[in-house]
Amino acid sequence: EVRVRFCPSPTGLPHVGMVRTALYNWAYARHTGGKLIFRVEDTDAARDSEESYRQLVDALTWLKIDWDEGVEVGGPHAPYRQSQRHDIYEAVLEKLLATGLVYESYSTAEEIDARNEAAGRAKQLGYDNFDRDLTDEQKAAFRAEGREPAYRLRVPDEDLTYVDLIRGEVTFPAGSFPDFVIVRAGGKFLYTFTNPVDDALMGVTHVIRGEDLMPSTARQLSLYDALIKAGVTGFMPRFGHMPLVLGETGNKKLSKRDPQADLFLQRERGFIHEGLLNYLALLGWSIGPDRDVFSLDEFTAAFDIADVNPNPARFDQKKAESINGDHIRKLTEKDFAERMLPYLADAGVFGGEPTHEQIVLAFRAAPLVQERVQLLGETPGMLGFLFTDDVTYAEDALKSLPENTNEVLVASVGALEVVPEASFVADGIQEALSGALITPVADGGLGLKPRVAYGPLRVALSGRRVSPPLFESMELLGKAETIRRLGALLD
Ligand code: GLU
Repeated sequence: EVRVRFCPSPTGLPHVGMVRTALYNWAYARHTGGKLIFRVEDTDAARDSEESYRQLVDALTWLKIDWDEGVEVGGPHAPYRQSQRHDIYEAVLEKLLATGLVYESYSTAEEIDARNEAAGRAKQLGYDNFDRDLTDEQKAAFRAEGREPAYRLRVPDEDLTYVDLIRGEVTFPAGSFPDFVIVRAGGKFLYTFTNPVDDALMGVTHVIRGEDLMPSTARQLSLYDALIKAGVTGFMPRFGHMPLVLGETGNKKLSKRDPQADLFLQRERGFIHEGLLNYLALLGWSIGPDRDVFSLDEFTAAFDIADVNPNPARFDQKKAESINGDHIRKLTEKDFAERMLPYLADAGVFGGEPTHEQIVLAFRAAPLVQERVQLLGETPGMLGFLFTDDVTYAEDALKSLPENTNEVLVASVGALEVVPEASFVADGIQEALSGALITPVADGGLGLKPRVAYGPLRVALSGRRVSPPLFESMELLGKAETIRRLGALLD
């Protein structure tokens, strides 16, 4: 059975890199019928926060990413917070010490530097494996000085090779790094230790994570060897490193602080979860040539970790929004309207809690914009005019008015006044207006081109040059209000 994990350190707001990691692990688990473990790597009390964890859960839940084992759902390997696993780490350390692959180390940073200098070796070489074979007497002498040991792993003097699930064979040459600290003097267990130890104890079969973690993979492979020798686990997981995500321009990594990387900001701007998830899935993977839009089920059915592209992926906000628009088009009218309502409310379109009439109107108006928007956040600007009786005219809209605006408005009011209330629907309105404005002069109309004829009406109704379909908007506003607005633009 495939067992994958998502194991963030909860700091800061949920961002694209983090969530793409969760997404690929989740998709692989769902594709293979395996399990996803959500482990919280909260060993840095100064930086980790419960709030960050909550926000991450909120973001994943919104995206419909779920997990099989974790803090709230529980599971056979609880607790799933590293801050609660200290005793477990102590016990594993004991087992490793018994193999002799982990040893006590008393060298201080200054001592290491001094030895390197005396031996004419570069300082950057770091630790010189000095404490590998300390005798019991030497250890006792250090303790007598009041020193506490750190614990280091004995790294074999040989090339380390593994086959990356995404990148193929990778070799770390012998001597790439010295024996490294897994527990600091004073007892702090480091990431290099807790992460593979938990993976081993939790039976993780595939470690799928960002390319930036490749350097720790070298160390973790050697620690895994020791864990196997110590009988903590029976097997080595496979490793796969996902490509970097670059920002919009240049060759810089998308930073956590880039606004595009902020998932909550993207949600506020009006991504629906289907759209954002679809776009995140494309950051390093593709469902096939010439195809960008797919559902969650299509994604998990098709996703295989072996198909992830090792080359960097670039975050493209425009493309993300256009995919979101495609998903908006797929929603039922009702679903779209329900998701749009909070955006209208947050933008203040209702001037407070929406009334029943306002909600009804919003539901009737929703189809007019569902075809047009890429983000739900565009809807208040488009529909706001329906909910106010105080139209403000945008400057560019006023500038766009042709010379014969008054003539157009007067003719339109005249034509609409004779439309019976019962026929004041889009078709009836169109017929009346086109009769008055578009019909050739010889036949009693103004003989205008539609663009010239309807531009001023649009401005009168909405204050903008671009608005939802005109006749439908008039129908929604009703006869009296439409005529009032046309009159209000007259000068
Ligand atoms: N806690 C680590 C991080 O957030 C986990 C890395 C990994 O997936 O092994 O960077």
